[in-house]
Amino acid sequence: LADRLQNTIQKIRGKGKINEADVKEMMREVRLALLEADVNFKVVKEFVKKVSERAVGQEVMKSLTPGQQVIKVVKEELTELMGGEQSKIAVSNRPPTVIMMVGLQGAGKTTTTGKLANLLRKKYNRNPMLVAADIYRPAAIQQLETLGKQLNMPVFSLGDQVSPVEIAKQAIAKAKEDHNDYVLIDTAGRLHVDEALMDELKQIKELSNPDEIFLVVDAMTGQDAVNVSKSFNELLGLTGVVLTKLDGDTRGGAALSIRSVTDTPIKFVGLGEKLDALESFHPERMASRILGMGDVLTLIEKAQANVDEEKAKEMQQKMRTASLTFDDFLEQLTQVRSMGPLDELLKMMPGANKIKGLNNLQVDEKQISHIEAIIKSMTKDEKIHPETINASRRKRIAKGSGTTVPEVNRLLKQFEDMKKMMKQMTASSPKGKKKGGFK
Ligand code: GDP
Ligand code: MG
Repeated sequence: LADRLQNTIQKIRGKGKINEADVKEMMREVRLALLEADVNFKVVKEFVKKVSERAVGQEVMKSLTPGQQVIKVVKEELTELMGGEQSKIAVSNRPPTVIMMVGLQGAGKTTTTGKLANLLRKKYNRNPMLVAADIYRPAAIQQLETLGKQLNMPVFSLGDQVSPVEIAKQAIAKAKEDHNDYVLIDTAGRLHVDEALMDELKQIKELSNPDEIFLVVDAMTGQDAVNVSKSFNELLGLTGVVLTKLDGDTRGGAALSIRSVTDTPIKFVGLGEKLDALESFHPERMASRILGMGDVLTLIEKAQANVDEEKAKEMQQKMRTASLTFDDFLEQLTQVRSMGPLDELLKMMPGANKIKGLNNLQVDEKQISHIEAIIKSMTKDEKIHPETINASRRKRIAKGSGTTVPEVNRLLKQFEDMKKMMKQMTASSPKGKKKGGFK
């Protein structure tokens, strides 16, 4: 989404004063950016109106940093648009609590059913049963059974000859008997919303009286995800939405429209194929993602908790001027290690989503100790001027660190990419521009 928006934000961020014309220009960009991100046009219109009103109001105009203030307003309103945080799951006072999973084929229902069961056990200490009620898709039952095995949880199935309605009914009875306090019904999907599917889901709903009906939608499908949500909500009355595949390169605009079109909260997001890749939905983080600013706030919070302030400032300065050396890198690495997995931290960095190679920049703990060893085997001069590290030096460093030349090469390349990224960030920030202007 956000190239365009980001440019405008950069432009406006450093401004000492802004007037209504500035706001107008920015709102034009915001509007286009949101439309490009597949946000429903009615939603966009409402949104821009709201933000404009606030932006030309006192709170912004009187502020010392109006540019930043406008960005703050945009972010707050985006967050508001997506609703508060709502990751609670219903608990029935007459167990089992029944959760029905619905959605189109391939959206991620079966996977999410497994993830949710995993979460219920891990976080809430529950004892769920999975129900295989998709009798149409080949191997759907088997897929759920495999997940059940991985989780060591019961999967209820009556094969593919018994109607899903009957399966649901018997499953709930069985769960009562076995003291499973949650029943997660994995239902069938179609490629499109159709009547037969909806009829079946309605019947399952009537019979099993679910406490939650979660719609699973694929974030990659953009505006389609919104239309699908609308249809399912009209027919079934959803209690929540799970947005999957947000780990992919999606623009996330669907998240905005879903909430305002269906008035159903997004409760969880899927961030990968593994069973633990389900997280509560954080509207604020999503707003940052949509704004393309990276998860700056989280990053700063984490950094503040772990890095002492002096050093952090120094680091920031270096990052800004892109004069990073391998010594800094090593120091950074050591500090960052205590903050969490490195690839996740990098994802939170502003502008990081623009750098293609970054997705491949996965660093595990073992690699980190190799990286440390490699850097320690460099001479002082090499650390400051890595471009002088030629083939024979690479060999020497590999030997000295007990690693291999390809590993050394990889690190040098990654370091180069990181510097490039910082340069890009610097080049597009108003501060950087001013500095450059002195030359
Ligand atoms: P269903 O037809 O709705 O039951 O969808 P499935 O659960 O079978 O998922 C379809 C595909 O999407 C599978 O390959 C899943 O591994 C994948 N998938 C589901 N959720 C996610 C997610 O959050 N991220 C990624 N990357 N893949 C996902
Ligand atoms: Mg399925």
